[in-house]
Amino acid sequence: MVACVIPVKPFDLVLFGATGDLAQRKILPGLFQRFTVGQMPDQARIIGAARSALSGNAFRTALSASILKAIPDAVAGDITAFLEHVTYISIDARGERGWADLAKTLRKDVIRAFYLSVGPSLFAPIAARLKTSGMTTREARIVVEKPFGHDLNSAHALNAELGQCFSEGQIYRIDHYLGKETVQNLMALRFANALFEPLWNSQHIDHVQITVAESLGVKGRGEYYDKSGALRDMVQNHLMQLLCLTAMEPPSRFEPNAVRDEKLKVIRALDPVAPGDIVRGQYRAGNGDESYRDHAANPNSRSECFVAMKVQVSNWRWAGTPFYLRTGKKLRARMSEIAVVFRDPPHSIFPAMQNRRGNALIIRLQPDEGITLRMTIKDPGPGGMRLTEVPLDMTFAEALGSDVIVPDAYERLIMDVIRGDQTLFMRGDEVEAAWDWIDPIEQDWAESSAKPAPYDPGGSGPEDALMLMHRDARRWREIGG
Ligand code: NAP
Repeated sequence: MVACVIPVKPFDLVLFGATGDLAQRKILPGLFQRFTVGQMPDQARIIGAARSALSGNAFRTALSASILKAIPDAVAGDITAFLEHVTYISIDARGERGWADLAKTLRKDVIRAFYLSVGPSLFAPIAARLKTSGMTTREARIVVEKPFGHDLNSAHALNAELGQCFSEGQIYRIDHYLGKETVQNLMALRFANALFEPLWNSQHIDHVQITVAESLGVKGRGEYYDKSGALRDMVQNHLMQLLCLTAMEPPSRFEPNAVRDEKLKVIRALDPVAPGDIVRGQYRAGNGDESYRDHAANPNSRSECFVAMKVQVSNWRWAGTPFYLRTGKKLRARMSEIAVVFRDPPHSIFPAMQNRRGNALIIRLQPDEGITLRMTIKDPGPGGMRLTEVPLDMTFAEALGSDVIVPDAYERLIMDVIRGDQTLFMRGDEVEAAWDWIDPIEQDWAESSAKPAPYDPGGSGPEDALMLMHRDARRWREIGG
C-alpha cells in the first residue's frame, strides 16, 4: 500500500533556531522527507533563522550534512533540489539584526508559518517582534516547542503574551507524541471500529498502564534537565496527552476543537494525586556509569528522573479503573506504550491457567509502532483443555506492506501546521489545566524532606514503583519484554 500524499499549499516557513539541535536533527530532515515524497509544492520556501552569522551557502552545506546524518540513504540529487528551497537569515531575537531582511523576504500571498525552535524565554519576544513588524498576517501561524511554561502561572502568562500577537486559531503548541502514527491510530481504533468502544469503560477494563521508558540517562544535558525533572518534562505533556486520548469520550466530529474539548474534560476530571500514589526516583551509579546526580552535576539534586503514579479519572466511564503512568531514564529499554488491561471473564469454565495475564490491548509507540491484542486460546495439541496466551500482532510496517512510509511525528505535524489543522496540537486551556493538576504535586515535593528513591540503571525503576502496583494486586508490564 502506498501512502497517499496530498501536496500542501505554497508556504514560507520561518524556522527560528534553525542552527539548533532539534531543527537540524528532526525538523529540517522531516521537511526534506516531505519534499522527497512530493508533499512540498515548488513554491514552498524554508527560511532558516538563528543568531549565527552564516551565509546561505554555509547554512545549506551544514544542513546537507545534517540530512545525511539523519537519513543516511538520502539521495544527493534530492538534497540538492531540497536545498534550493532553503535560505538563511541571521536574526537576533532580542536585537535589531535581521528583522528588516525577514520582513522583505516574506511573500504576501502565501501561508506563513513561524516555527519557534528556540529556548522558551524567546517565545514571547519573537512573537511580539513579529507582530510589531507587521508580519502576523491572517494566514500566519506560530508553532511553539515544549516546554510551554513550567507551572500554571508561567503557562498562563505565555498564553497571554502569545494571545496579544496571534489568535488561538493561529497558535500551534507542539507535543510530538500526538504526531505519532500509533497515537492517531488509537483514535481510529476507538472511534472507527464498533468492536472496542462498548468495552471501553470500567465495567470491562481493569486498568490502563502508560509507560514511556528511556534507556539513556541525562548525561550531557543534566544541568538543564535537573531544573525540570520527569514530572514537568514528560508527564505534564506527553503522558497526559496519551492518557487523554485513551480516556476521552468520543468527540462529535474529528475536528480540532471537538477533540480538544474532550481531552480537556479528561484533565479536569483527574483526581488530585495522593502522596502515597506517586513515586519519584533517581538512577544510582552502576554498570560502569555515573549516577543521575553526577550527570546533573548536582550532588544534592532532588529532581526526579523517574515517576510512577496511580491516577483516577473521576467520571462515570472510568470510576474504579485506575490509570498507572510511569516514565524514567536509564531503564532497561527504550519503550513507549499504552496497555489497556481487560477484566477477567466473570466465570471461568476452564482449569486455572498459570501466569495468566488476561486480555490486553497494547498500543506501541516505540519501538516498532503497532498494536497487539493479547488473547487467550487453547494450547494446541493433545493434553486436555489447556489454555495459553498469544498476541494478535499488527506491526504497521508489516501489516501495510514495506512500501508504506510512516512519516515521523514532526513531518506530520509540520504539514498539519501548513494545512491549518490544529487537531494534534494542544490548546491553551488544555496546557493550563494540565499544569493546574501538576502544580500541587510539585508543591508537595518542594515542601517535603523526602528524597527521590534510588534505582539501578538498566532496571525497571525503584522498588516503591513496583509496590504501587503490587499493593493493588496488579503488575507492571516488563520494560523491553
Ligand atoms: P539549541 O540546540 O540550543 O538551539 C537553540 C537555537 O536557538 C539555535 O539555533 C540558536 O542560534 C537559536 N538562538 C538562541 N538565541 C537566539 C537569539 N537571541 N536570537 C535568535 N536565535 C537564537 O536548542 P534545541 O535543543 O534545538 O531546542 C530548541 C527548542 O526545542 C527548545 O525550546 C527545546 O526545549 C525544544 N525541544 C528540543 C528537543 C531536542 O531534542 N533538542 C526536543 C523537544 C523540544 P545560534 O546557535 O545561531 O546562536
